[in-house]
Formats: sequence, C-alpha cells, structure tokens
Amino acid sequence: RAKAEGKGRYSLFENDLTSPVRHLKEIENDLRAALKSGTGLKLVYQPFYDREGQVTGAEALCRWDHPVHGALSPEIFIRVAEERGLIDELGRWALDKACHFAASTNLSKIAVNVSPLQLRNPSFVPMVLQTLENSGLAPTRLELELTERAVLEQSREIADILIRLRSIGIKIALDDFATGNSSLQYLRDHRVDCLKIERSFIARLGKDEESDRLVQAIFGLARATGVSVTVEGVETKTQHSLLASMGCKTFQGFLLSSPMEPEKFEELLRGEGTSSSLETT
Ligand code: C2E
Ligand code: MG
Ligand code: MG
Ligand code: MG
Repeated sequence: RAKAEGKGRYSLFENDLTSPVRHLKEIENDLRAALKSGTGLKLVYQPFYDREGQVTGAEALCRWDHPVHGALSPEIFIRVAEERGLIDELGRWALDKACHFAASTNLSKIAVNVSPLQLRNPSFVPMVLQTLENSGLAPTRLELELTERAVLEQSREIADILIRLRSIGIKIALDDFATGNSSLQYLRDHRVDCLKIERSFIARLGKDEESDRLVQAIFGLARATGVSVTVEGVETKTQHSLLASMGCKTFQGFLLSSPMEPEKFEELLRGEGTSSSLETT
C-alpha cells in the first residue's frame, strides 16, 4: 500500500548521480515498453471532500512500478515522457482509464492531469471527445488539471482549445496555482473553472500570518472572478479548519485520504472503506 500512498517513493538519482543520462535512456525505453504492454502502469485515485466530509470526486494520479527501480515518482517519469515524446500516449492512456473508471461510479467529478505539451497536439480535442464517447462519461463530470506551465504559453491556440473544451462542458482547473505568473491573466480572461492552490502555500497555513492572509486573498480573488477553489495538500486539522473558515468548499490531502487503488476507492464510495479522519473526532 505504501507505494500507492505516495510514500516510500524515491528519486532515481538520489543514490546514483554518476550516470543520469544512461538512466534517462533506460527509463525512456522501459516506459515505452510499459505503454506498449500495459504492464506496470496504473492510476490511483485521491478523493475530493466537501465541508461535510463527503466524497465529491477524485483526482487520477499515475503510478509506475519500474521493473528494476520499483515505484518511480511521476515527477520523474512524466518529465521523461514529456522530453522523449511519450506524453501523448501516456496522457491518452491515463484519460481513457480514468474516464472508464469514473463512468462506472457515481462520482460527480473525475480530475485528470494533463501535460501542457499534450495541448499542442492537434488531435488532443478529438482524442478527448472520443474518450468520453467510448467511456460514456458525461463531459460535465470531467475536469482537466493543467499546471501553470501549460497556460503560461499565452497563445491563441491554447486559449481556443480551452474555449472548445469548456463549451463542451469539460471543466478546466489551474493546478499548482500561484507558482507561475500567468495566473491572474487566466482568471481575468475567464479561461478556467477552478484553481488548485499550490501545496506549499497550504503547508505554511497557521504558521505565519502572511501566509494565512495570502491564501485568504486567493479565495477573495476566486470569488471575485467566479472561479471555484480546490485545496490540495491538506495535512493537518489546523489547516482544514482555517481553510473552512476562509470559505473553502473542496479539500484534498493526506489528512482526509491518500491516493488509493481503484478497488479501495470503490469500497470508500460504497461506504465500506475507512472514513475521513475528520469524522472520527
Ligand atoms: P499534482 O497534480 O499537483 O498532484 C498532487 C500531488 O500531491 C500528488 O503527488 C499527490 O499524491 C500529492 N499529495 C496529495 N495530498 C498530499 C498531502 O496532503 N501532502 C503532500 N505532501 N502531498 C500530497 P504525485 O502523485 O506524486 O504526483 C506528482 C505530480 O505528477 C502531480 O502533481 C502531477 O503534476 C503529476 N502527475 C501525476 N499523474 C499524472 C498524469 O497522469 N499525467 C500528468 N500529466 N501528470 C501527472
Ligand atoms: Mg493535479
Ligand atoms: Mg497540484
Ligand atoms: Mg504538482
């Protein structure tokens, strides 16, 4: 279970700094093979909770059990996929899997991370539409999470893609909000539906007043522009209650639940799984 929970994973380069290039090539080849055979790759699901502690949706997060190195952080293999031209295939695989999974549940929202590079592929939008059709998932139940790197590129093309996706009913979330510098522009231009405040801001909540005021200000900004907010990385009850007092409606983080294997997550949805740690108090 530790792997799925995001703990116990390590950086490939931590123990061996001597041959990162060889490693990269090796990872690239192994990732290509994994995509081809469909083995070793999987998605885990981290729930979103409302203020009452009810599960309202989930984010799909990719895991890869490397044949030799074991569980690798997505921070590493997603980057390799991006750099070596494998991200379209990996992204398509993840979207397909997540949409099929969500369609088999009563989840109102499934969030899928999308690499900025995927938006540059002209077949991205048709691919998304096809995946929705294949899985039978209503577009309004799908949210695509884009990091600011994606939207940093203020091109007309990217803006048009977001407009097209949103006109179909798909939601767009700005992931790791406030780490880039395009955020405000995107809020002003109403190009996104949701923003996910970067985890490091949440980590400092309750520790210094400035952080509290900053996060409070982000909520104000979101309200002013009619955008919803999801908070990721909620680890303590102090953070949770501070955020609730700021008007936060959607919470995600280890305090409530780690990413889970699909079977575990289904148990949770059926009410059989462990409930959020907030309810036990
Ligand atoms: P992200 O989308 O911002 O996802 C949040 C990360 O925070 C996840 O790490 C999650 O496991 C972790 N997390 C959740 N709650 C907490 C908490 O309370 N405390 C702390 N410290 N961490 C928490 P993970 O799964 O390692 O993913 C890292 C990043 O890799 C993701 O960041 C996302 O950018 C990328 N990623 C993961 N899966 C995919 C995918 O299928 N496609 C793409 N393009 N990127 C992906
Ligand atoms: Mg995300
Ligand atoms: Mg994030
Ligand atoms: Mg992140």
